[in-house]
Amino acid sequence: MIGSSINSIVRELPTGTRLVAVSKFHPIEAVQEAFMAGQCLFGENRPQEFAAKVPAMREYLQEKGLNEDSVKWHFIGHLQTNKLKLVLPYADMVESVDSVHLLESIEAWGRTNEKVINVLLELHLGAEDTKGGLTEKEIYETLEKAGTYPHVRIHGLMGMATNTSDEAVVREDFRRISSLMSSLKERFPSLTEFRELSIGMSHDYRIALEYGATLVRVGTKIFGERVY
Ligand SMILES: *Cc1c(COP(=O)(O)O)cnc(C)c1O
Repeated sequence: MIGSSINSIVRELPTGTRLVAVSKFHPIEAVQEAFMAGQCLFGENRPQEFAAKVPAMREYLQEKGLNEDSVKWHFIGHLQTNKLKLVLPYADMVESVDSVHLLESIEAWGRTNEKVINVLLELHLGAEDTKGGLTEKEIYETLEKAGTYPHVRIHGLMGMATNTSDEAVVREDFRRISSLMSSLKERFPSLTEFRELSIGMSHDYRIALEYGATLVRVGTKIFGERVY
């Protein structure tokens, strides 16, 4: 089940686009099953769960005599600055940098721990006031002074479309982040690592591919409904 879902999604992805299998709320056995089907990149959105699953998978790989680093982890949820130590030692990327304050805290953590953290900047999309994320202006300003964050490597943008069944609204969200991505690449050509666009989830990843997604974050369509 898990394996066939992964394979059918991966087959739809153009070259250069990667699947982040979102395993949140699912047991480690589900991650192992996905790994055995060839999936090596996973996403989690809660610090505690993230900090438990990463070492559990390392142990599993070790027992199998496999390279512990063959599984990569992206953190995709809201990250409070008092939880950095649960996430940053293990994360191959933090996709959800949703405030300048968080970015600065990650930079400080990286400096202290002599580590460079890979991140995406999360653009605030959709109408809901509660949803986090940076404004376009904040993203421009951040990239203008990217050099002042030597312990952070900014790889691109992440966004979550408005949660609606109205496809036109979803398309407008993806169009906006995709066009921002293009403008930023043009405006900051020296930031050669700035190339990832993480958009699309189970219900809208096919649409996201039309707008240049290089990462799609899919949970339910792989692992089934989550039990909260
Ligand atoms: C849970 C989650 C996903 C995956 O959602 P599905 O609808 O289960 O595919 C993607 N991105 C983020 C940020 C998430 O929190």
